[in-house]
Amino acid sequence: MHEWALAEAVVEYLEEKRREEGWSNVKTLVLGLGELQNVDREVFEFALKHLLSQNEVKVGKIILHLVKASFKCRRCGGSWTLDDLNLDEDMREAIHFLPEAIYAFASCPHCGSRDYYVEEGRGLVIEELEVE
Ligand SMILES: [Zn+2]
Repeated sequence: MHEWALAEAVVEYLEEKRREEGWSNVKTLVLGLGELQNVDREVFEFALKHLLSQNEVKVGKIILHLVKASFKCRRCGGSWTLDDLNLDEDMREAIHFLPEAIYAFASCPHCGSRDYYVEEGRGLVIEELEVE
């Protein structure tokens, strides 16, 4: 499953970092999960904790927060979030499963252009890694 694959990638990253940098444990790990990344938070956290428990890297605290999606217009340079658009539930759900679907539903709220890109809110970002 998607959540497990993501969790595995995080664990592999930590192992690699540990080998490279020679620390022993992670005190705090802060992860930013993109709003457009279709991930079940609970499943992901469970998977991560499970994989870490079978691993040599010990992680003290895991902080997981949601990174709001934001978009930037190539024509006028304006940026906006999903909250700035008047999307109904069905559209939000479609975008959640397939971020590209947004191009079918929305245009730039400033100038009406459909030439924009996702600035933030995709994928998983390791925002902070405190080691000891
Ligand atoms: Zn625009």
